[in-house]
Amino acid sequence: MTVIAGQIPDQVPVALHNFLMAARMAGIPLSECLRSGQRMAESHLVAWRRFRHDMILVENGTTAVAQAFGCAVNYPDDVAPRVIDPVLKNLKRVDELRIPDPEKDFPLNEVLEAVRILRREWGDRVFIMGRADQAPMALAAAVRGHERFLLDLAECEEPAAIDQLLDRCVEATTRYALALRSAGAHGTSIGELGCDLISPALYRRYALPHLQKFFAAMRKAGFPAALHQCGNSKAVLPDMVASGASILELDVHTDPPTVKQATGGGTAVLGMVDPAGVVHRGTPERVREQSRRALDVLAPGGGFIIGPGCALVPETPEENVTALVETARRWGRYRRDGTLEHG
Ligand SMILES: [Zn+2]
Repeated sequence: MTVIAGQIPDQVPVALHNFLMAARMAGIPLSECLRSGQRMAESHLVAWRRFRHDMILVENGTTAVAQAFGCAVNYPDDVAPRVIDPVLKNLKRVDELRIPDPEKDFPLNEVLEAVRILRREWGDRVFIMGRADQAPMALAAAVRGHERFLLDLAECEEPAAIDQLLDRCVEATTRYALALRSAGAHGTSIGELGCDLISPALYRRYALPHLQKFFAAMRKAGFPAALHQCGNSKAVLPDMVASGASILELDVHTDPPTVKQATGGGTAVLGMVDPAGVVHRGTPERVREQSRRALDVLAPGGGFIIGPGCALVPETPEENVTALVETARRWGRYRRDGTLEHG
C-alpha cells in the first residue's frame, strides 16, 4: 500500500503470480483447484507458508469472465483453463451478452470465495490482489474468439459494434472488480492484449479509452488496480501510464531502464523478473542476478514491487522462487531517502 501511495516502504515488496504453481505445491489437480474457492485458497496458503511473499495474486486463469458470459471453457490438469467455444458468434448480437453476477455466476463466485477465505486468514498482513480477469480487448477476444476478433479489428467494418462490445466488457469487469473488493481484496488487476498481438495504433484506438474507463471507476472507488500486459510493451508504455492504472505489471521484454523512465509520479511497477526463461528454466544463481538487476534499476525512489512478470508454470522449481524472495529481502531494503541500503 505504501508503494502504491508513492511512498518509500521499509523494503521492496514481493508479489508472486503463482496460482498454477501453488496448486501443484498443494498437490491439488489444477482442474479441481481452479474451480473451487476453498481449494484455491488452500493452495495459496500452502505456497505462502513456504515463500512468505507480501502480495498474493488470486485468480483462476484468463477465462473467468468469458466463462461467466457463456463461453465453454476446458479445465486441463497441466495448464490454465482455455475457452473452447466463444459465445459471441455474431458481432451484431452484443446486446445479448448478459453482464454476469459475480456472486452467483461460476467461476467468479468461486474466486470471490477464495478471496474471502484468504482475507479472513490474513487480515491486512498480506496484500490480496483479487484479479478481475481480463482487460476489455483481451476479454472481447475471448468472448468472440481470438482469430475472429483480430479479423474484426483488421477489417474495420463495424467499429461501433466493436466499441459496444468493449463497453460491455468494461461493465462486466468493473462489476467483478468491485465484488472482489467487497469480498476483501486490497486491490485488483486486469490483463490486456499487448503489442505482440495488436498494433500500437489499434491499442490507442480501442484499448486505451476503455482501459481509462475501467481505471477511472477503480480510482473513484479508491481501489488500487493494475494493468497486466505480456510481451514487449515499449511502444505503448506512455499509453499504459495514461490509462490511469495504479500499477503496471510488466515482464523483462520491456527493458527495465525504459520502464523506470516512463513510470513514476503515481504509477508503480510490478514484475520485471522473467517467469519462463529465468524462474522456470534458470538456476537460482540466474534468478538472483536478474532480481538484483531489477532492484538496482527499478527500486530507487520507490514505485517497485518485484516478482515474476507473468504466471509461473506449475513445474517452476521452488528453490528459484526462494532465490527471488531472498534476493528481495537482502538487497531490497531502503534507506529513508529512497536509495537502497546495498545499492
Ligand atoms: Zn502475462
